[in-house]
Amino acid sequence: MNKKTIIAGLLPDELKKIISAYKQPVYRAKQVLDWMFKKGVLSFSGMKNLPSELREELDRKNQPLSLYQELKLTSAVDKTSKYIFITNDAQSIETVFIPTTKRATVCVSTQAGCAFGCLFCASGKDGLVRGLRADEIVSQLLLVKKDNPHRPLTNVVFMGMGEPLANYENTLKAIRIINHPDYLGIAARKITVSTCGLPDAISRLAKENMQFELSISLHAADNDTRNRLMPVNKKFPLEMLIKAAREYTQVTNRMITFEYVIIDGVNDSKKAALDLAKLLTRLKCKVNIIPFNPVDAMQFKRAEKARLAEFTQTLDENKLNFTLRRSRGADIQGACGQLRLERTERKNLKDEGRGFK
Ligand code: SAH
Repeated sequence: MNKKTIIAGLLPDELKKIISAYKQPVYRAKQVLDWMFKKGVLSFSGMKNLPSELREELDRKNQPLSLYQELKLTSAVDKTSKYIFITNDAQSIETVFIPTTKRATVCVSTQAGCAFGCLFCASGKDGLVRGLRADEIVSQLLLVKKDNPHRPLTNVVFMGMGEPLANYENTLKAIRIINHPDYLGIAARKITVSTCGLPDAISRLAKENMQFELSISLHAADNDTRNRLMPVNKKFPLEMLIKAAREYTQVTNRMITFEYVIIDGVNDSKKAALDLAKLLTRLKCKVNIIPFNPVDAMQFKRAEKARLAEFTQTLDENKLNFTLRRSRGADIQGACGQLRLERTERKNLKDEGRGFK
């Protein structure tokens, strides 16, 4: 195992300590960060304004980042790119880059695999391997930024593989790094953390006094349906989740976004829309309706147009604040964990000698 310190996961004070231990002035810390986070130089040898002894010392016990790129697929349709990055212990994780005219959003993973096993999601199919360290979360952004030098990163969404709030400390540290002006300097309000709904962690988050956006993956407004789609609901049913969400909005005075992946015949009825409007009454929130991204070999299908129209009309009539999200990257296995899953399956097929391309 690699025992080097990874600079991408250090807050300013931690980095300054390292620099001071090399008997160098602390402003060198800012120079290192400038190279990595502003100029996209990801090796110490390229940091030309550092004394060569410092570059060598840094190189002996540290490394700038902790991942390397194994694969990149770019959608011919909308230019969304999906990357597979490999960790020091050979885990593969997914990161997605979503450029639009106004924004350049990166969707990062917080865990290799996922423990929560939502039925419609590819990330949890093989369970959880481990949570990512802050440096591994930040490294995803460094690599995507370097690969897209002409598109300054504007938004970060924690909607890749894994459950950010089950990897709480690392996720929050990564957010502090991403947000810091000496690093990526992405405004807190342009950073979104998405959770499957862990009430204790949501309560803890409410007290952090951080300004990032919180999204909760709801996907159903009655316990029976949600139990079926998201096993986490059996442990933390809607009553507990909505209570924590309500308290969060009261303590922080911030709005919560609820995500609702709409699936044919599962959660797309008029009754489901009425339940949703009722569940979220008088809560400071909006709902993001997301088209289901079909994952091979899964039983679910995208909701039909007419049903979707009826669903959104019902929400309108009941004065629920919602938006309809466009699906992106469908031709490159854009859904959470999909590409990694496909890779594993291909590998397995290959291992079984079934001659996959
Ligand atoms: N664990 C976190 C973050 C990762 S999933 C969470 O549950 O929120 C990010 C979002 O992608 C979630 O809203 C999740 O429900 C959604 N998602 C997963 N698989 C999907 C699919 N096949 N189609 C559309 N959205 C999907």
